[in-house]
Amino acid sequence: MNFPITTLNPSEKLPFSENSTIVLGGGLAGLSSAYVLAKAGQPVAVFENDPGVGGLSKTIHHGEYKFDLGGHRFLTSNEQTERFIRTLLDGEYLTVPRKSKIFMNDRFFDYPLKPANALLGLGMSTTLKAVADYGKEKIKNSFKRSAHISLEDWVVAHFGRTMFNIYFREYSEKVWGLECKRISEEWVSKRIEGLSLGVAIKNALFKFTGKKVPTLMDKFIYPQAGIGRISDKLKEEIEKGNSVVTSTRITQINHKDSAITNMLAKNCERTHDIKGDEFVSSIPLTTLVKILNPAPPDDILEAASKLRYRDLAIVTIMLDKERVTDLTWLYLPEKDMPLGRIHEPKNWSPQMAPEGKTSIVAEYFCFREDKIWNSTDEELASITVKQLEKLGLINRSDVIDKCILRVPNAYPVFEVGYREHYSRILEYLKNFKNLHIIGRSGMFRYYNMDRAIETGIETAEKILMEKSRISSAIQ
Ligand SMILES: Cc1cc2nc3c(=O)[nH]c(=O)nc-3n(C[C@H](O)[C@H](O)[C@H](O)COP(=O)(O)OP(=O)(O)OC[C@H]3O[C@@H](n4cnc5c(N)ncnc54)[C@H](O)[C@@H]3O)c2cc1C
Repeated sequence: MNFPITTLNPSEKLPFSENSTIVLGGGLAGLSSAYVLAKAGQPVAVFENDPGVGGLSKTIHHGEYKFDLGGHRFLTSNEQTERFIRTLLDGEYLTVPRKSKIFMNDRFFDYPLKPANALLGLGMSTTLKAVADYGKEKIKNSFKRSAHISLEDWVVAHFGRTMFNIYFREYSEKVWGLECKRISEEWVSKRIEGLSLGVAIKNALFKFTGKKVPTLMDKFIYPQAGIGRISDKLKEEIEKGNSVVTSTRITQINHKDSAITNMLAKNCERTHDIKGDEFVSSIPLTTLVKILNPAPPDDILEAASKLRYRDLAIVTIMLDKERVTDLTWLYLPEKDMPLGRIHEPKNWSPQMAPEGKTSIVAEYFCFREDKIWNSTDEELASITVKQLEKLGLINRSDVIDKCILRVPNAYPVFEVGYREHYSRILEYLKNFKNLHIIGRSGMFRYYNMDRAIETGIETAEKILMEKSRISSAIQ
């Protein structure tokens, strides 16, 4: 990966002024916010910890290969957001058909499941049991609506116990690293598409006619050069007059009289004092709380310590082979298989691998204290090759290279009881009149790219409106 390191020279004038809006984090949310401000002629500067922009939606360049941190497809039901992306990419994208499979009981099934697949997968007696269970829950719920606290409560009430055991339990526990009893129902009830296997089964078995959720759509937008092209384009546009400073970590946020005054940013072992008038944060909410100075009250720090993010290990295996699959994604829900999902970047865009070669990207959901996260790169590569061989997808003799990355804070974890801590933190942060939180990690929300972008744009528009209100009041 060759990213240019931006070095801030303390002897030079910093490339932004004290009336700039300071954006913390150069993922899609932060960059979209800065882009809107820059286009409106408002001075803005983005500070990003990593050497490159894009955050979770970056594309890694490894020799002649490219890959995302888990395949990222752009999809939205908001026409304005779609137009924003299409205009920004200016033709540099493909419209890719979605074709995914799921591996269960030693077989590959189309995903989302089709009725015949679902029946074949379950077998007749289990199908009948699932239908009977579902009916039982329906009748029970029509008499008494009980409160659903966990994912398990919610799924059993909506799909029946048999479906929960077969289709939801293992994959949910793999993704979240928690028993389904400890995963908040809020996540599944608001974003059933996150567990779209359930929707698929419900569609397949019960002809569910609810709103078609975006993640089940058949086509998606994908830049030829990988999803990171969206962030790179945003950066290019912002830099026509404003700064995006990478390799720079925000380490302290100072405040006084309910306003942020300045921040400390560490770049190449030097610490810089950054002043601004509005501060837009897309860095993890828990980090933001921890670096406030003076520190928040103990109960807020305690609440922040109770919120967790799920991390991700990404193992990419490069192969001396034209192609392995014709799939967008392959889901691997079973517990005895440590990886959760794989994709072949070349199926998303031919530019993702050199001619005659391909690669497979495997995602391992984990916490930083887990064995997977702490395994050596060699161990992770070896487990991945073994699993891909077991699935009958590759021969180890085809492996020509590998690249292992660890991605912190990939998913906010909605553990039962999390909302109380979360609300307390939000209530406290509301006290700061010039601090705005945006994005997936920043707002601790399970947002996809479209929503992360929208939170950035909405906040920029709010800042612009406030500035124009103040300037017309002065005139
Ligand atoms: C495996 C996976 C697959 C996904 N697939 C899809 C998909 O197919 N479609 C879709 O729409 N969405 C998908 N998403 C979601 C998508 O990645 C996010 O919605 C989006 O990237 C969030 O952008 P963000 O800017 O809010 O957050 P982030 O990308 O997390 O950006 C936050 C930035 O802040 C930086 N930062 C953190 N701390 C500091 C600090 N102290 N100082 C300076 N900078 C800091 C980080 O380095 C990061 O760049 C997927 C997510 C994952 C994990």
